[in-house]
Amino acid sequence: MKAHDGMYIGGEWRPAAGPDAIAVVNPADEQVIGHVPAGTAEDVDAAVRAARAAFPGWAATPPAERAGRIAALRDVLAARKDEIAETVTAELGSPLPLSQAVHAGVPVLVAGSYAELAASYAFEEKLGNSTVLLEPVGVVGAITPWNYPLHQIVAKVAPALAAGCTVVLKPAEDTPLTAQLFAEAVQEAGLPAGVFNLVTGIGAVAGQALAGHEGVDLVSFTGSTAVGRRIGATAGAAVKRVALELGGKSANVILPGADLAKAVNVGVANVMSNSGQTCSAWTRMLVDAERYEEAVALAATAVAKYVPGERIGPVVNAKQQARVRGYIEKGVEEGARLVAGGPEAPRDQGYYVSPTVFADVTPDMTIAQEEIFGPVLSILRYEDVDDALRIANGTVYGLAGAVWGADDEEAVAFARRMDTGQVDINGGRFNPLAPFGGYKQSGVGRELGPHGLSEYLQTKSLQF
Ligand code: NAD
Repeated sequence: MKAHDGMYIGGEWRPAAGPDAIAVVNPADEQVIGHVPAGTAEDVDAAVRAARAAFPGWAATPPAERAGRIAALRDVLAARKDEIAETVTAELGSPLPLSQAVHAGVPVLVAGSYAELAASYAFEEKLGNSTVLLEPVGVVGAITPWNYPLHQIVAKVAPALAAGCTVVLKPAEDTPLTAQLFAEAVQEAGLPAGVFNLVTGIGAVAGQALAGHEGVDLVSFTGSTAVGRRIGATAGAAVKRVALELGGKSANVILPGADLAKAVNVGVANVMSNSGQTCSAWTRMLVDAERYEEAVALAATAVAKYVPGERIGPVVNAKQQARVRGYIEKGVEEGARLVAGGPEAPRDQGYYVSPTVFADVTPDMTIAQEEIFGPVLSILRYEDVDDALRIANGTVYGLAGAVWGADDEEAVAFARRMDTGQVDINGGRFNPLAPFGGYKQSGVGRELGPHGLSEYLQTKSLQF
């Protein structure tokens, strides 16, 4: 795999300040596929200075011109989608068709949506005798996870650029090669030097230096709750803007009148996709007592199609594999009924986890409360619709969810009562413009579409 041995700062690849490197491992075969530099506070400082220097020029660039550059970036991402898919497969382990359709495909859609929004967004509005100016916040520090390596980058960088902000990105240590490809795409698209900068490195060093840097005006973070809390506290102390996307434990609520087979099949596919490493995954399936066993049987049949190494890839690293297997052991220990899978690794090589389905899961169990981030589905039984609502809302999270009803009206009535940021109604399709983000401990702020753009803006009012 191609790997740069420097940082992308100020429009060029520069040598890293320190000698340390991070080995990138293919989780499907545990082989090292490349090395990237482990950035230090010095690298972060150089990147923030470059972003600061580029900010006035980029902020003053007319939105239509910014839109043109983002459209060029989208075109480069589209032209290089095969290379992107192969790189994601190599460092994340996802099956190539998933990498092509989702990991390479969705960022093109999202970048395209921001090219359009930059051109059409009302950066100025009238309010009585005031003119309200929506101005870019400044320099953005973006810290991204490994689960959707390119999507997580584009979902932060594209709206930041559309708003007129400049960016320093610290990507996850497990998937830095995709981030380097993105930096190449930025360069190829002709974005001005310093508008986007990349520092690879480990979270506790480069990530922490970026989150705490006084030259950063807004920190946008996606990842674990533990790190999110810390970043929120650091940002709070410095009175700087922060956006946090912290995962979830989303409910797939199947109401008594719903098409059970469809709801279960789509629900299982939703959890197994990307080896369960999706923050918005519907990891809790809620079924009424009467059709409960039928749903469990349908789920067992559906999950059998996910053969490890074929339709489903490994999880990202040995630590995540151990963590997910630990949760499966915990589920068994706490008395849930194993319907498929289990804690044993299904293959000798690679960080694989058996696609697992638990029945008889009760709301108080660890596997019903904590984010597992692996291919593990919990099926819970509810007595009536109010009970279903209590269970659905009964975790600290509130990121996503699904409701299946006899019709849209019934499902929408339930969805209105859910404490969560995004709900798919009767199998609703992905919309790259829909705001994405959490209620409760799933986070602060929204990504995607116009709501995602507004995160990177601050308002100034002029009175006449
Ligand atoms: P993590 O939170 O440690 O890593 C996410 C990003 O934060 C990475 O870029 C990392 O380098 C950086 N980081 C780590 N420590 C930091 C610090 N002190 N300061 C600044 N940046 C720092 O997540 P992880 O360890 O890779 O995964 C652990 C768990 O997090 C998973 O099991 C899952 O539950 C959750 N997770 C959620 C998402 C999501 O999309 N919400 C994505 C990945 C992981």
